[in-house]
Amino acid sequence: MSSIHTELVLKALESLDALSAPPPDGRPSLLGVPITELERFAEAAGEQRYRGRQIFQGLFHRRVTSFADLTDISKKLRDALEATFDIDRPKVEQVQASTDGTRKYKLKANDGSIFEAVYIPEVARGSRTNTLCVSSQTGCAVGCKFCFTASLKRNRNLSAAEIVGQVLAVRDDVAPFGERAQVTNIVFMGMGEPLLNYAQVTRAIGILLDPMGAAFPSKRITVSTSGIVPRIYDLGRDLPTQLAISLNATTNAVRQQVMPITKKWPLEELITALRAYPLQPRRRITIEYVLLGGVNDTIEDARRLPHLLRDIPVKVNLLPLNAHDRTELKTPEWSQVLAFERELKRHGMNAILRRPRGRDISAACGQLGETVPLPQSREAAT
Ligand code: SAH
Ligand code: SF4
Repeated sequence: MSSIHTELVLKALESLDALSAPPPDGRPSLLGVPITELERFAEAAGEQRYRGRQIFQGLFHRRVTSFADLTDISKKLRDALEATFDIDRPKVEQVQASTDGTRKYKLKANDGSIFEAVYIPEVARGSRTNTLCVSSQTGCAVGCKFCFTASLKRNRNLSAAEIVGQVLAVRDDVAPFGERAQVTNIVFMGMGEPLLNYAQVTRAIGILLDPMGAAFPSKRITVSTSGIVPRIYDLGRDLPTQLAISLNATTNAVRQQVMPITKKWPLEELITALRAYPLQPRRRITIEYVLLGGVNDTIEDARRLPHLLRDIPVKVNLLPLNAHDRTELKTPEWSQVLAFERELKRHGMNAILRRPRGRDISAACGQLGETVPLPQSREAAT
């Protein structure tokens, strides 16, 4: 590379915030760079700002997977990009298809880290939604007693590029199924605690919301958290996305047992943060409540819950525990689940009993990280 070229690349590099989050190896990925930084990059490389937009649109509209395919920009800018960035997506190692249409993706980062994303097609109230559940970390340090991901020994933050890359990789995989199959919603309910990877998660969301690119509406992106209270305030200030809280108990004593994070931020502090959360008109906070047999599923719990959440616009998702071999906790009797739901509704709560999805391939909530080989699975070609 000529020295003038090196100089150019260096200048361009220095204009990037992307470098404040260096990747585990090699060059930063282009997938984690917002449009504004690409515009600065183009300018620093001696080109017009709008070239940055063209690069961004190449990634999200034309879905290019190599620098050579960015044919609408100059060779010089392409070379500068290539010298600075990587354009690779996480590698799809395996796709498992459930009988209910759910697809679980095992993805591999370029340092060999494994993480998962789950695609969940659904028809609800006549309209079709295809939700992609993405991971924010490769494990989870929060240590909830019912969650398989918590039992994994590994844990590193995913970069913004790896988060955006999950969306692009899955979007490409389902593209042959046509328009009806396209990803409409994104939920951060895969592996990891998104609010413990705040910078990369919010950066990824900013990219996914950008109207020039993937253009997801803010009401179609949901961040789910176990309750990292200071970051809930930050999120409310920084982004207009939807918020989900894994509540899972109605008293501190029980919540501490199953979600040790409660010792750091007790229920009172969590609820105060929810009360203060800025909600756009007609939006609600989602409350996730995993029903654990004999632990948090009593009628007293069902009565306490509406009281705890009074005056907060919420909808409650009830999820009977998906059992797995790393938890002692039990799925409640079905009659108990129905009684719990009935009691919430009697108190006027907007409660939905969620059917577990993709259970046959361990793609249901709390099962991520557990890979079950199936006859209809397909190992991705290497
Ligand atoms: N860390 C974030 C997001 C990932 S967990 C959070 O906790 O919110 C996504 C959801 O799966 C959470 O609501 C969690 O309560 C739920 N979950 C975890 N393990 C589960 C299990 N074994 N059965 C059912 N739901 C589970
Ligand atoms: Fe982490 Fe969420 Fe699992 Fe708790 S439920 S261990 S916060 S991924």
